[in-house]
Amino acid sequence: MIIDEIKKIVGANNILTEIEEVTVYSKDATHFIGTTKTPIAAVFPTTIEQVSKVLKFCNETKTPVITRGAGTNMCASCVDLDGSIILNLAKMNTIDKPDTKNFTIKAQAGAIISDIQNIAEQNGLFYPPDPSSCKVATLGGTIATSAGGSHTLKYGTTKDYVLGLTVVLADGTILKTGSNLIKDVSGYDLTRLFIGSEGTLGVVCEAILKLIPKVENKKLSLVYFNSVNEAAIAVNEILKAYITPSVIDFMDKNTLSTIENFCPTGLLTDKEACLLIEVDGFDVDYQQKVVEEACKKAGASDIISAKTKEVEDKIWLARRSAFGACTKIAPDVMSEDIVVPKGKFPLIIEKIQEIAKKYNLKTALLAHAGDGNIHPHFIIDIENKDETERFLKAKDEMFKQAVEMGGTLSGEHGIGLEKKKYLPKLLGKENYEIQKKLKQFFDKNGIMNPWKVF
Ligand SMILES: Cc1cc2nc3c(=O)[nH]c(=O)nc-3n(C[C@H](O)[C@H](O)[C@H](O)COP(=O)(O)OP(=O)(O)OC[C@H]3O[C@@H](n4cnc5c(N)ncnc54)[C@H](O)[C@@H]3O)c2cc1C
Repeated sequence: MIIDEIKKIVGANNILTEIEEVTVYSKDATHFIGTTKTPIAAVFPTTIEQVSKVLKFCNETKTPVITRGAGTNMCASCVDLDGSIILNLAKMNTIDKPDTKNFTIKAQAGAIISDIQNIAEQNGLFYPPDPSSCKVATLGGTIATSAGGSHTLKYGTTKDYVLGLTVVLADGTILKTGSNLIKDVSGYDLTRLFIGSEGTLGVVCEAILKLIPKVENKKLSLVYFNSVNEAAIAVNEILKAYITPSVIDFMDKNTLSTIENFCPTGLLTDKEACLLIEVDGFDVDYQQKVVEEACKKAGASDIISAKTKEVEDKIWLARRSAFGACTKIAPDVMSEDIVVPKGKFPLIIEKIQEIAKKYNLKTALLAHAGDGNIHPHFIIDIENKDETERFLKAKDEMFKQAVEMGGTLSGEHGIGLEKKKYLPKLLGKENYEIQKKLKQFFDKNGIMNPWKVF
């Protein structure tokens, strides 16, 4: 009956119901799998009105709805647990021509991030949020997780570029938030409320995004170190020099060799650590000189600058393949996402290494180091119960360390199922209770992405 009603709304061509088909849509980039039932259907609306009608029907019948983009999230944020409807916005992927006078662009939730970036670039503009998954991740998914990426140090994350949204609420209400204006404080900031809400408050259907002028001048270097600590200290030295590179990404020896095996680029795999540093904008030669001096002061052993755009593209391809490369060397890769205050970066790296050693776990450490955002990849086999137990203990300890340093448990991946047990303590009682009330206000029947975050 549920399937028949939804079919009437979206049409028979926009719904999948065979178990082999819908199972695919019940998983994401984590190892979590639905435990109770498979989804009832995967539904592909083509208009906002269809989204509204589907949600209204699901709300009335108390059918859980899991909104989904490309399913690349790393926190079990769109896995199915309840026999839900999967609402996939892939067919709502229109991108309007950028407004080059007002530096904005309107796009639908299913649009792919790299397509938005390309269209902006063709018009002399720039959409900076660039998760490494940008060739598949969708606008809706990146808004719902406030995705970041390598360029956040200078340019911020998704939340800094969303000016307005069209969202459908659980009862089918179509809500418009914000505007296409850079300044607008008329009323509460409902736009921000939906950013990072992981599909638990409403379905993002469209967004108006801020663009900035395209940055013409860039210089990319790989700076190598004979110790992880030296690289971590170099990050602080660069920031202390009051230069803001557009990227300071950190890779340890395991990450370098794993990437090099997967995607040969000529990385120096005998080095203990490497910083991928990009400077852009005005005076790039001067910026690069300051960065090099800071790195040498910290003990850099080799500094290699990319001489051509082809070499730069090759390095970026290698860097963005880090997670994929790790998946080739073990059955499971647990990609974590902690953040500490920038100045604590050397300390947290040291602690993570100690913890990995204590629990005898293999890691590949990758970080958006300038943001204090570390992605420790734990390379394990979840079928190995002992190893999994050790990993879970190591993860608890690592989270505790990050929080004690004034940090947090997710900088850009989100909470999902994976981290929800840590949330009450992290947020504190008052904050947590208010957030739960907000969830109840927007979603009285609890149909929107149940069990996630709260
Ligand atoms: C190889 C790889 C590299 C990655 N690199 C980065 C990185 O550098 N930086 C980074 O931040 N992340 C990164 N990620 C994580 C992931 O790509 C991001 O979280 C991304 O934002 C998810 O987009 P998606 O379209 O796949 O969303 P999904 O995974 O499908 O969904 C993510 C969440 O958003 C919700 N959602 C999806 N669409 C909507 C919508 N229209 N309305 C409301 N809620 C919605 C879902 O319910 C879910 O809670 C990476 C992932 C992989 C696999």
